Parts: sequence; structure tokens; C-alpha cells
Amino acid sequence: MQPYLFMISNPFLSLDYEPALEVLGDDYHDIVSAAAFPTHVLRFRNNDLLGTLGLNPQQVDDNDFIAAFGTFQNAPRPFLALRYHGYQFGEYNPFLGDGRGFLYGQMRGTDGELYDFGTKGSGTTPYSRGGDGRLTLKGGVREVLAAEALHRAGVRTSRCLSLIETGEQLWRGDEPSPTRSSVMVRFSRSHLRFGTFERLHQLDRKDLIAVLLDHVIEHYYPHLQHQIDRYALFYAELVQRIAKLTAEWMSAGFCHAVLNTDNMSITGESFDYGPYAFMPTFDPTFTAAYFDYFGRYSYGNQPAICRWNLEMLQAPLGRVISYADLEAGLATFGAHYNQCYRQRMLNKLGFETLSDPEANEFVKLTLHWLKDSQIEYHQFFTELTQQFSRSWREDIDQIFKDVRMVDHDLGLLWNQWKIGYFNLLLSLPEAEVDQICDRLHRHNPATALLRPEIETAWTAIAEEDDWSQFYDLLDRVRS
Ligand code: AMP
Ligand code: MG
Repeated sequence: MQPYLFMISNPFLSLDYEPALEVLGDDYHDIVSAAAFPTHVLRFRNNDLLGTLGLNPQQVDDNDFIAAFGTFQNAPRPFLALRYHGYQFGEYNPFLGDGRGFLYGQMRGTDGELYDFGTKGSGTTPYSRGGDGRLTLKGGVREVLAAEALHRAGVRTSRCLSLIETGEQLWRGDEPSPTRSSVMVRFSRSHLRFGTFERLHQLDRKDLIAVLLDHVIEHYYPHLQHQIDRYALFYAELVQRIAKLTAEWMSAGFCHAVLNTDNMSITGESFDYGPYAFMPTFDPTFTAAYFDYFGRYSYGNQPAICRWNLEMLQAPLGRVISYADLEAGLATFGAHYNQCYRQRMLNKLGFETLSDPEANEFVKLTLHWLKDSQIEYHQFFTELTQQFSRSWREDIDQIFKDVRMVDHDLGLLWNQWKIGYFNLLLSLPEAEVDQICDRLHRHNPATALLRPEIETAWTAIAEEDDWSQFYDLLDRVRS
């Protein structure tokens, strides 16, 4: 009796699922089942997200996570492996699709927005292409950390709802193997990608492109729904959302690493974290994926690549939107990116609004300084946050007075930076100085999620099954 009662009271199973994508019919997905795993150990549950699901963390047991998102018992909806194609490293690939995940369900958050529960590592599907359909535990750990760190940095991102270790041994070319397995549930706005539309274009299905666009606009761009030119307006807004997202990555010092069009969400949200890295020092050529031989997805290429991805999306959308409208939409990318990037860098420097030429010049000077000094990118902003004081506005010699920043040969540039910062402080009313302090704290996470930090946490798990460093790192990147 007891297990049965427990099961029906699982709060995840009685959420009000809304089969928004499912009702469009089977042109966009295949129904699949989940793999059966030998064991299930809950390694991470995101209590932060439960509020959005209308759940109280205290009323959700660890076993509820395992039953819903590890053994996949009594699922409320069929599991949908989504169909998509995409440009991977510039080459069109028609053999993609959810190969190790599916859409578990969709629901309205308490904020009224539609959300996806998408799995990763839940078993093979018709799109696995010989792969095992699994997620390594390290891959799961890394995605949990990336999403939380990006969220803290103010990047619009998917988050992980749960990570469950599943007791299998996996073989991978890029991890010491055998390596441990896991299954993750990702909570995101949508798993529809640029590549979802690219597939429909390839199949010559203008009708389905229109149906899917109406669906996307209804759920993710509802303010455009009743506009006559809603398709063109949608593309123009998507361009702006992606420009903003790119600026968020860039200011956070984040390199996504695999910006294929199947990893670009149609909602403009960041998702799917594989070989990503936060760059240690400012370096536009910094590349995170070892297999990215030509640096196509390097840190500094991200704006150009995102723009290119938006340009590729013009082919499918060109079935229902005029090229003049698409071109007009895309043309706004650069200006919007620059404006968002400048704004976010100013925030990281403690400012809100500064007149344009001044702001531009100072952001440029800061980047020049970060590049030439090769001072640790995140550390620079953390140090600024910690050292800043009211006295900096009174006396230029107070600026970073206790921190030795540079060798002598960069002294000139560093002095230029200090003079610039001092002058900007002087240009603000004195009353605003306290707000700088607040802003610095808000926009600069105290802990950066650098690779060595992740590797240290992972080594403790791999060698000692010691999870304390992972939880500690998670706490620090979230705080
Ligand atoms: P990703 O690099 O995670 O964005 O995945 C690219 C494509 O490869 C998608 O179609 C995935 O579903 C598929 N894929 C990645 N890893 C696996 C795996 N272990 N088994 C099956 N398919 C996979
Ligand atoms: Mg992907």
C-alpha cells in the first residue's frame, strides 16, 4: 500500500502539464521510451526552480525526483524525441534530432510562461546514430554548474532541475573511461531550435513552417500574435534576443563552444552546455572545445557566428517572410549587440548610464587593459567590487591603492585606466557613489566557474566519491 500512496502523491506527476507541442501532431517528434537504469542516486535537485512550478521544496521528497526523472514511472505525457537538423561547424547535417533525450512534458510556470522539461541521457531514440543515448556524470555535473553560474551572471539560460546518477559505465574518447553515467532534466523555455525550422525547409514543408511559427509566436512571442506582419516582427525580435544573449555571454566571459544551429533556441535562451568554458583571461581567440580546430566558435567569434546562424535561419523563414523583411531584421544585429554589450560592461564597472562616447571609450580602454595585462578576467571585476570605496571619487591615488596590478611596462596603460575611472566617478553626482557599490556586487559574481575549479570538484567525485567540493562550488557560484 505504502509505495503506491507514495507514488500517486508525487507532486511532479500531478503538475498541470500542457501538451503545447504534442497537440501539433506527429510531424515534429517521435514517441520514445526511457532507458531502464541499474541504480538511481539523486546528485542534484534545483530547489530554486520548484517555486516556478508552484511547489514547495519541503513538500518534494528526493524520491519524487527519482521516480519522476530517474525511473520515469507513471509519466503524465508521452515522451517526445524532437526532430531537427542543423549546421554543425558550418556543414548542414540532416541526421540530428534528440539522440539522447526527449521532451518529458511542458507546463505553465507560476509566472505564466510555458516551460519544457527536457531530458539528457535518458536512452537511445531513432536519432541516436549509433550513440549510447547516455550522458556522462561529468557532463551532467558540468551542465548543472554552467547553468547556475550563467543564471547568477544574469544570462538568460535554461537550468537543470535534477541530476541523477544511473550506475552504468560509459566509454568516451574525451574522458578517462569507463566513466559514470547520469540522467538530467533540463528546465528551459523551449527545445525548439533554429534547426527545427531548418529540417522543415529541407523537407520542403512550408505548411509546417507556418504552423510551427504560429505555435512559437503564440507561446514565446504572444505580444505579436495579433499583428498582421507577425512573422517578420518575430524574426526581428529573435535577432534582438540573440544579440542580447550574445552580449550576455561575452560580458560574462563565457565561451559556449558549440554554437551549431541545433544548439540555438528559438526563444533566444542559452542552453546545451557541453565543452563550454569561462575564459581565464581576456582573449578573443580563446576556444573551449578541443575539436574546434579552426576556432570557429572561439570566444571572440561568438557575435559573428550567432549572426551567421540567424542568417542561415532566413532560408526556412524565407518561405513565409519576405527577404526584405528578413534583411531588415538581421541588419539590426550589430547595433543591438554593441548596445547590450556596452551596457553590461558598464554595469560590471559599476555604472548604469554614461553618455555614449565616454562610455564607449572607457569600455574599450578596459578591454585594452584586460587584453594587454592578461590579468584574470573575472578576478579583475571581483577585485574592483571588493576594493571600491567612496574615497576613490575624492582622490585618484585611492583607486586600487592596496592592489599591485601591473609590471612597470604596463604602468602607463594602468594609469590611463585609473584616470578614466576617476573622471567617470567625478562626472556623477556624489549621491550616486553608493549605487556603484551595489551595482558592482550585483553584476560581478564573487566566484568564477573556471575550468580548474570544475576539474578539482570532479576529481574529488571521480576518485573519492566526495561530492562536498561540487556542492561547495555550486554554492559559491550561485551566491
Ligand atoms: P550535442 O553535441 O549534445 O548538441 O548533440 C549533437 C547531436 O548528437 C544531437 O543530435 C544529440 O542528440 C546527439 N548525441 C550526442 N551525444 C549522444 C549520445 N551519447 N548518444 C546518442 N546521441 C547523441
Ligand atoms: Mg545539442
